[in-house]
Amino acid sequence: MKSAEMERAPSGSRALLKATKFDGTAHWIQPFKVVSDDGNLLVTEYRARTPIFTSRGEFRSPYDSLVYFWRDRWFNVFRLARPGCELALWYCNVTTPPTFEDGQINYVDLDLDVAVRPGGVIELLDEDEFQAHREKYGYPAGVVAEARRAAEDVANLARQGEFPFDQG
Ligand SMILES: [Mg+2]
Repeated sequence: MKSAEMERAPSGSRALLKATKFDGTAHWIQPFKVVSDDGNLLVTEYRARTPIFTSRGEFRSPYDSLVYFWRDRWFNVFRLARPGCELALWYCNVTTPPTFEDGQINYVDLDLDVAVRPGGVIELLDEDEFQAHREKYGYPAGVVAEARRAAEDVANLARQGEFPFDQG
């Protein structure tokens, strides 16, 4: 089993997220520091205003972010808060399960996102983009099914206040 040999990220080390679209083109490159890694769940943090590369140009997020990546899940969860402030938003990206190797986190962004407000409002975003890219890149049926299930799963976790949505 490859999963048993999976590389763990040392706490305090740097990790660079490199998300691509389905055809391999760069979509999002964001620097993180590793908080913890148990071999499946990798937790990282991002400091507000650090430059992020996006396919639409450089972006500096106003939010300090705590990010949860599970190596066996088709989504990740960003906990966003302005420096020194309470939780602003949970932002969940539907992606292929991430890999971690040589300080790099890699996955394919599958467009669909789920936003969870602190008050409990849950919103599915970018359905139109998902439909467009599904046709453009020819997502296999299995990928479409996993992506839809991931959006549902993460929304259910949020609705039930389960980890990491119990982390306020
Ligand atoms: Mg999206």
